[in-house]
Amino acid sequence: MQELDLELHRLGIPAKTRHNEVAPGQFELAPIFKEANVSSDNNQMMMALIKQIAQKHDFVALLHEKPFAGINGSGKHTNWSMADNTGINMLEPGNEPQQNMRFLATVAMVCEAVHRHAGPLRAAIASAGNDHRLGANEAPPSIISVFLGDTINAIFEAIREGKTYTPSGDSLLDLGAKQLSQLLKDNTDRNRTSPFAFTGNKFEFRAVGSSASVSFPTAILNAAVADVMTESNSLIEKDLAAGKSIDDALLAITKKWATSAEPCIFNGDGYSEDWVKEADKRGLLNLKNSASALRILADTKQMAFLSEQGIMSSPELEMRYNVLLERYITLREIEFTTLQDMIQQNVLPCAIDYKLKLGQVIANQKAVGLECSVEVEIYKKLNFAMESLSSQLNIFKNGFDSLDHDEQKRAETIAETLYPLSEELGEHCANLEGLIPDNVWSLPKYYEMLHNK
Ligand SMILES: [Mg+2]
Repeated sequence: MQELDLELHRLGIPAKTRHNEVAPGQFELAPIFKEANVSSDNNQMMMALIKQIAQKHDFVALLHEKPFAGINGSGKHTNWSMADNTGINMLEPGNEPQQNMRFLATVAMVCEAVHRHAGPLRAAIASAGNDHRLGANEAPPSIISVFLGDTINAIFEAIREGKTYTPSGDSLLDLGAKQLSQLLKDNTDRNRTSPFAFTGNKFEFRAVGSSASVSFPTAILNAAVADVMTESNSLIEKDLAAGKSIDDALLAITKKWATSAEPCIFNGDGYSEDWVKEADKRGLLNLKNSASALRILADTKQMAFLSEQGIMSSPELEMRYNVLLERYITLREIEFTTLQDMIQQNVLPCAIDYKLKLGQVIANQKAVGLECSVEVEIYKKLNFAMESLSSQLNIFKNGFDSLDHDEQKRAETIAETLYPLSEELGEHCANLEGLIPDNVWSLPKYYEMLHNK
């Protein structure tokens, strides 16, 4: 980590935080914010450096979103804000956010952008690796929503109802020196369950995968916000021409977007089953896997805001759709082939070896006229587990061999049928792993991969 810091410094990439994360051997690194396109390039270099430096020290750095089941995966918190041409952060609430109309209008526009373009934003973070991660262990769900925190939420509620917001006394943090500084209590602190959260003076798009380039999701986000801002601008201009004050025009735009984006604003627990049901009631998209999410990139109507603004043309988007879909299919097919090979070349042969050993013991016991209930019981369990695995493998193989040639259909069958089947296969293998003695098992065990033996 120290060497990485130094190398990043030499490249002019300032990185601040670096610390251990929840999973064994998992680390966090926080680069200091820069202009989005520079940051995206820096991020790309950073990933290359992480791998190179790890290798130098005989480690392998895994940027995979979920290298190990059951423990936290890895992702990127793409911190995002917007400044005007004088460097003022449009997302800085200040001491009295309820009176900061520029801030409120900007937040409302971002909410509307995320609401309106939730599909493309979901598509922008789709990948085979991220499918393992979204929706569990400190990763946001596949439903794109915005977390605003209690204060802004209450201000928006008041604006929607045409009321005046009065801050409750405890929204300011008393540092014991009120005349020196007043801080708005950070009520956004630990909402890890939101894919898009307001955190003080910026938003965090937290659903980006750890192996992904941040550039595509950032481009989609920028375009989505630009789309709503362009529309807002003409509405504001109309209001100003009609004699409204700037603050009144901004209040009107805040009310408009805070109202239309309301279904997308969610401040509760994004992990809960209740939210999945609630989101469905609100009509929000829940694209659970990459196959269904990537399809959006091929939907010219949903992606029109990019071509209309001259950001990406339809052929460019189609190219991305094809590449991302093919990458998804290829990765899964490699995983599936590897899984089948491991079962046939390792798991089943190990089980057969153990059976052979047990069989000898059972035969020996019988030859000398002794009971062998323990061995017979293990033998039966082993036999049952092997049969279950084998029949499941046949179902899987049939599905794998009869995949559609059409890539979209192929990807969907992989995501919806074969992937769940592969997880079941994995469970059968884990079951056998638990039955077979360490010295007979030929594959590394789960804990051996997590911790040095
Ligand atoms: Mg962290």
